[in-house]
Amino acid sequence: MIQPIGFVEPSIIERLSFDINSKVKFFRAIASEYELPLIDEAYNSRRMQYNSSIILDYLSRSFGRISGNYRVLGVLDVDIYADALNFVFGEAMLGGGFAVISLFRLRPEFYGYSTDMELFFERALKEAVHELGHTLGLRHCPNRRCVMHFSNSIADTDFKSYMFCSECEFKLMGMALKFKV
Ligand SMILES: [Zn+2]
Ligand SMILES: [Zn+2]
Repeated sequence: MIQPIGFVEPSIIERLSFDINSKVKFFRAIASEYELPLIDEAYNSRRMQYNSSIILDYLSRSFGRISGNYRVLGVLDVDIYADALNFVFGEAMLGGGFAVISLFRLRPEFYGYSTDMELFFERALKEAVHELGHTLGLRHCPNRRCVMHFSNSIADTDFKSYMFCSECEFKLMGMALKFKV
């Protein structure tokens, strides 16, 4: 389930679901039409950012127990951070049911460039697949082209592909079934 948290343009959620379904064989995504409200407890007014760990916990509490091959990807359009990091593109429960990504730093406009929706959607797909990969138990991959490589900056995201490298894919092959997102 691709779940907006707070306001996210519905067409973005639909396009992301479509891209996952058409490009990533491990997942079958469904766009949620319901918007889960953002919670004030996650907002840090000093940093003017939301804490991704609190949102992840909130997302999992909102859904409760989910079946083994089901995943929920929360999508936010606000800036998020975790622990000691200035910001994060997303966070996931390793081998768990839930993950979140933020679109906030994926738009070229954020970096002073002109609007490029195709680049934006490509980045969103990479971050979504990356966090969903964590929910399947994958850790960060040293291959800089692999979607499971850690993105320290948007340049890392742009350099990597939305695909799993052969080693990461091999790990996923053992999990025969398709995951419902
Ligand atoms: Zn990661
Ligand atoms: Zn890899």
